[in-house]
Amino acid sequence: MTRPSQVYLLNTHDLPRRAGEMKEYFFDIPAPERVGIDVIAVQPGEDIHVDLRLESVTQGVLVSAQVNAIAKGECMRCLEVVEIEVDRAFQELYRYEPEKAHTKAQRKRAREENDDLDEDDELMMDGDVLDLEAPIRDAIVLDLPINPLCTEDCPGLCPGCGVKWSLLASDHGHEVIDPRWASLQGLTEQE
Ligand SMILES: [Zn+2]
Ligand SMILES: [Zn+2]
Repeated sequence: MTRPSQVYLLNTHDLPRRAGEMKEYFFDIPAPERVGIDVIAVQPGEDIHVDLRLESVTQGVLVSAQVNAIAKGECMRCLEVVEIEVDRAFQELYRYEPEKAHTKAQRKRAREENDDLDEDDELMMDGDVLDLEAPIRDAIVLDLPINPLCTEDCPGLCPGCGVKWSLLASDHGHEVIDPRWASLQGLTEQE
């Protein structure tokens, strides 16, 4: 069984390890699981389209990519299905692993630079392989709205009957019978 994250691996063996060499790739990654935030995400099986350029630099491989996908969620106000087009670029440097760098100079430089870097932020190549999961996930998450709405001015639902305000008459209203309703309405308005 393949690990879900294996779909994000890219083998760069076609890219010559000489500074300035470039290669372009276009591919679709079927999302192995939801990618996004709680309220909206690219759904499992939906394609994440990646246009990517690799560039050999002295320290490793520089990745410049454009990520496109469709995320689905619910409008925060009326619960209608919302589809949002993700379109975001990222650029990341994947460093050669010191012991796997191809030339002496690369090994030396990789070692020097790794010494004074925060390991957590570092993207490292695994031989010729790049793991694109983290930057692709980040690109999608950063492009998604925290409060997705079906339309910018979605009026939401009537708190009395749960019907969308856009479908109700302008004089629509409810008599407040139970005082607990009134306090609940107050709560939702504050949010
Ligand atoms: Zn809405
Ligand atoms: Zn109502």
